[in-house]
Amino acid sequence: NSGQNLVQGIVRKAYSGYYYVYDGHCEWECSLRGRFRYEKQQVLVGDRVELAPTQDRVGVIVKILPRRSALFRPPIANVDQAIIIFSVRQPEPNPGLLDRFLITAIMNQIDPLICFNKIDLIKDYEFDLVSRYQGIYPVVVTSAVTGAGLDRLRGKLRGKVSVFAGPSGVGKSTILNAIMPELTLKTGAISEKLKRGKHTTRHVELIPLPEDGLVADTPGFSNLDLPDIKLEELARYFPEMEEYSGNCHFGGCLHDKEPGCAVKEAVELGGIEESRYRQYVEFLQELRGRRRY
Ligand code: GDP
Ligand code: ZN
Repeated sequence: NSGQNLVQGIVRKAYSGYYYVYDGHCEWECSLRGRFRYEKQQVLVGDRVELAPTQDRVGVIVKILPRRSALFRPPIANVDQAIIIFSVRQPEPNPGLLDRFLITAIMNQIDPLICFNKIDLIKDYEFDLVSRYQGIYPVVVTSAVTGAGLDRLRGKLRGKVSVFAGPSGVGKSTILNAIMPELTLKTGAISEKLKRGKHTTRHVELIPLPEDGLVADTPGFSNLDLPDIKLEELARYFPEMEEYSGNCHFGGCLHDKEPGCAVKEAVELGGIEESRYRQYVEFLQELRGRRRY
C-alpha cells in the first residue's frame, strides 16, 4: 500500500454509498475502504481524504484527515466561510437577526462575510447598516439584478469552502445561481450510471468555482438559536468590544451594570456602535434567562 500514489482531495458530494472527491482538477468516484464502513465512520461532504486510485478517476478512500469543524444543517465539514446575505430592502434587514447569524458562524469556527444584497432598491449610501458593520466584519454590497458587486463577491470565494446563509427572500438562490458555473467536471463510469437512476432526494453538494474555491449549493444554517455559551464568553463574539474590555475595572466584567466598565464608556463616546451594544445586552439577558431552568 505504501508504494501506491495516494491522491488528496475534498469530498464534494456523497451519493448512494459513493463519494465524489475533488482533487483541485478532476473528480474521483470513490467507495470507502471496508474498515471505515465496519467502524461506521461517517464521511461528510467537505471532509479532506486520501484515496488510492483503482482505475481512471475511480478510487478507494483510505484515509479521512482530521476534521476541523462540522455544520449539521446542511451537513458539511471544514467550512471556511459563511456568506451571510441580508437584503437592504424587501425584506427590511433585521440587525438582531444578522448578529445572530454572525455569532452562530463564529461559534462554528466559520469566518463570516456579510453580503448586503438588493442595493438597486436604495439610493447610494443611504444605507447606514453598511457602515455599522464595515470595519468589524468583511462586507460586500451586491445587486443580483444589476450584477453590481458580484465580481467582488466571487473574489471573496477564492480558495475557500463557503456556505451561503441568511433569512428567506434576501436573494440567496439568485446570487448562488449567478455565481455557480455550469458543472462540467469529467467523471468516470459510475456516475453516468447513477445519473440515469433515482436522483430524487437533494443532497448538499460543494460546487468547484472557476477561480478556485468551493461553494455549497444549498444555503446553510437555519438554526439560529443562540448557542449555549458562558456569559463571560459572549463579548468575544463582538470583536469591537475587545480593544476596550481590557480596561474594565473588574476582571470578569460583563459590561452590563458594573461600575468602571470601559466598554460602556466606549459606547457613550461613540467608539462602539450603540445598537451593537444593545444587541449584546439583549443576548446577555437571553443567556441569563436560560440559567433559571
Ligand atoms: P432566497 O429565499 O434568499 O433564496 O431569495 P431568492 O433568491 O429566492 O430571491 C427572492 C426574491 O428577490 C426574488 O424575487 C428575486 O428575484 C429577488 N431578488 C434577488 N436578488 C435581488 C436584487 O439584488 N435586487 C432585487 N431588486 N431583487 C432581487
Ligand atoms: Zn466592562
